[in-house]
Amino acid sequence: MNHSTLEAEVKEQTAHSIPVTVAYGDGIGPEIMKAVLLILEKAGAAITPEVIEIGEKVYLSGNTAGIDKSAWESLRKTKVFLKAPITTPQGGGYKSLNVTTRKTLGLFANVRPCVAYAPFVTTNYPETDMVIIRENEEDLYAGIEHRQTQDVVQCLKLITRSGCEKVIRYAFEYASTRGRKKVTCLSKDNIMKLTDGLFHKVFDEVSQEYPELETEHLIIDIGAARLATRPEMFDVVVTSNLYGDIVSDIAAEVTGSVGMAGSANIGMDFAMFEAIHGSAPDIAGQDIANPSGLLMGAVKMLIHIGQAAIAENIHNAWLKTLEDGIHTADVYNEDISKEKVGTQAFAEAVISRLGQKPNTIKPVTYNKELKRIQVHLNTPVEAKKELLGVDIFLDWNKGTAEQLGKELSQSKTTNLQLQMMTNRGVKVYPDGLEETYCTDHWRCRFIHEAKTPVTYKEVIELLNTVTEAGFEVIKTENLYSFDGKIGFSLGQGQ
Ligand code: NAD
Repeated sequence: MNHSTLEAEVKEQTAHSIPVTVAYGDGIGPEIMKAVLLILEKAGAAITPEVIEIGEKVYLSGNTAGIDKSAWESLRKTKVFLKAPITTPQGGGYKSLNVTTRKTLGLFANVRPCVAYAPFVTTNYPETDMVIIRENEEDLYAGIEHRQTQDVVQCLKLITRSGCEKVIRYAFEYASTRGRKKVTCLSKDNIMKLTDGLFHKVFDEVSQEYPELETEHLIIDIGAARLATRPEMFDVVVTSNLYGDIVSDIAAEVTGSVGMAGSANIGMDFAMFEAIHGSAPDIAGQDIANPSGLLMGAVKMLIHIGQAAIAENIHNAWLKTLEDGIHTADVYNEDISKEKVGTQAFAEAVISRLGQKPNTIKPVTYNKELKRIQVHLNTPVEAKKELLGVDIFLDWNKGTAEQLGKELSQSKTTNLQLQMMTNRGVKVYPDGLEETYCTDHWRCRFIHEAKTPVTYKEVIELLNTVTEAGFEVIKTENLYSFDGKIGFSLGQGQ
């Protein structure tokens, strides 16, 4: 784009200032936010920041959510959030505000581009150019945890078909509209056949609608290993929440520093933009943090609010700064860098290069016609759901699996008899091995041998019988079939 076209586009895109909610965050947050807002201002971004207080100060004032009502009001009004990292105080019942915000605002897709800038930023993998799209609302991050016995604590992994479909459709739409060639799905469905199995299944279904894109599925362990050692084989990666959290940090480090990558958290109505890293308390207040991750988040925000020309200008000035060897300490390498600078000096260096483009690194161009990605769900026809039995979880430590199995077999109803018991998922009754270590947490499956449907009343009757026999029930899980297909896993060894 020549200079006068750029000026005309900037003028058109900044005719109206857009209100944006801004949080300065904790640790290095205030320093990097200050640097980023200065760059945005000097580049002519038409935004009106509404500053809210969230994070450590709010937590420590006694608010365990880390955010108050007025902050939510600003977010509901602006629908756009530029957020510096925050510190979650350890222990003490504080919930992660990042997770709360993502879930409360329905930010289902976390988009994290990870690009190598070789030879200007040290990396062993100069060809790396991938986008990790992480499911952002569910999985183990539902944070539903319970202590159930003296020995056992549990965390529920919740995966929904609609959650999988939203993020997977987003990933395919992203790949297809942004000139990407391949989408890789990472899951652990060889072990978690229902939860990760659903993610993989929905990936296979949605992929049918994008025949022009290459697709692959990798088990997360080998996927993460290849991402760390052969990152150039990836293009767009879509995965569930926990795996995505881990592999995006790996990918960012592979490109040079966790301080380089920004992210967009996208929902149907709201969007939040941030760096992928945390509040880095170890370097806070020293003016040495790299503001690039938050800057790249802010660039995505400008595209989101229709200021693509300014986003492009900032992005190219930033690339030129890296190319000129002006580096913060985390990416500084005395063999290739020219000058080691602090956070604010780095921002000044970017500002002084506004209007310039990199010479060796390919400049970016943002198409201002590119539409925001909209995701529509294909709701499947409702399946016929039938109750087949119940898993009763007991807290019991009075003997062996064989003894428990024999005692518990006495409890039954017309249609529900003890079929098997597992301990930490492995079958221990009937026909368990003496060698298997058993803790005080037993999953006892009651089901009709012929798998005929039962009523919930009968489950209650069974629970009364089990309780009257002196057993402590910790929890129950109903066993359902959907259109005749069982909706529960077998015991290991069953
Ligand atoms: P971290 O990402 O803050 O830091 C990890 C390492 O990377 C540290 O050595 C740090 O100095 C370095 N680093 C991070 N960002 C950098 C930057 N911009 N420039 C230079 N070096 C940088 O991870 P952590 O130490 O595990 O977490 C610290 C706190 O941040 C915790 O309270 C955690 O809960 C929180 N956190 C917040 C977010 C968020 O707000 N989105 C994300 C992750 C962690």
